[in-house]
Amino acid sequence: MNDMPAGETLDYRLLLDAATAAARATSGQGHVADYIPALATVEPDAFGMAVATVDGELYGIGDWERPFSVQSVSKLFTLALAMAHGGDTVWRGVGREPSGNPFNSLVQLESEHGIPRNPFINAGALVVTDRLQTMTGDAAGAVRAFLRRESGNPLIDTDPVVAASEADHGHRNAALAHFIASHGNLENPVETVLDHYYAHCAVSASCRDLVLAGSFLARYGVRADGTRLMSRSEAKRVNAVLLTCGTYDAAGEFAFRVGLPGKSGVGGGVLAILPGRAAVCAWGPRLDQAGNSVAAVTALDTLTTLSGCSIF
Ligand code: GLN
Repeated sequence: MNDMPAGETLDYRLLLDAATAAARATSGQGHVADYIPALATVEPDAFGMAVATVDGELYGIGDWERPFSVQSVSKLFTLALAMAHGGDTVWRGVGREPSGNPFNSLVQLESEHGIPRNPFINAGALVVTDRLQTMTGDAAGAVRAFLRRESGNPLIDTDPVVAASEADHGHRNAALAHFIASHGNLENPVETVLDHYYAHCAVSASCRDLVLAGSFLARYGVRADGTRLMSRSEAKRVNAVLLTCGTYDAAGEFAFRVGLPGKSGVGGGVLAILPGRAAVCAWGPRLDQAGNSVAAVTALDTLTTLSGCSIF
């Protein structure tokens, strides 16, 4: 395929074919997350990808309608909803700098006095979940309701087996939450925050669902029904933090290869935003060392490289 200059209409079908071929060529690389035992039951070489354009077109390939555990992709939505409800208040309890550390690291939190580096590492996501809980009374329910409404899929729900498995093996997250609480940076009981955190991480949704739900960021803050969730400037900020922090200590590599704001999860999904154009989601359960999907990052790399279309 020839390079297509940015600004041209993109042939998403051709791009999805090429991205899938590249993703399939990574077959066997990486490992399925098993520190949450319920996640290890997934088919390792499943692959799907979807695109939702700002004009309402929807494209998909492979397992694009198959639900998977969204895990940390949910953190894009918790942050957006917390900002939509509370504006800048969320930034009192969490920073917005890349951590350069693994997503579940405890070390920085001690030297930084219980203020997590950014909203996408686990520590920061716990703080955002806490604030969203204060704002809505049901943080995980707010995430599920948003996903259902934007995707038009009322079946999106928390997988109770995954949520229970996370809780059973959640010593690190519990340690992070208690540590944050010891610094006075949680407004709700630790158990409540952890329950809602596990419940939104354990939501099952497909690439199709996630591109539709994430496309408000491609529309600079405007929801599927044309109403505004957040200001254009807030949407810019969410995209900026996605770019710098959305793929943890591999955010530099992700920007280098893909060149888009994006959020990964250990279920193997990556949701990326082409501002003004589309939301794109790829899913493949095998992860690299940083916890990002090998197949999904390769697929997104291929899409932006072939199309010449990224934020750069
Ligand atoms: N629920 C997972 C955890 O807390 C989310 C991690 C991820 O997707 N990076 O460990």
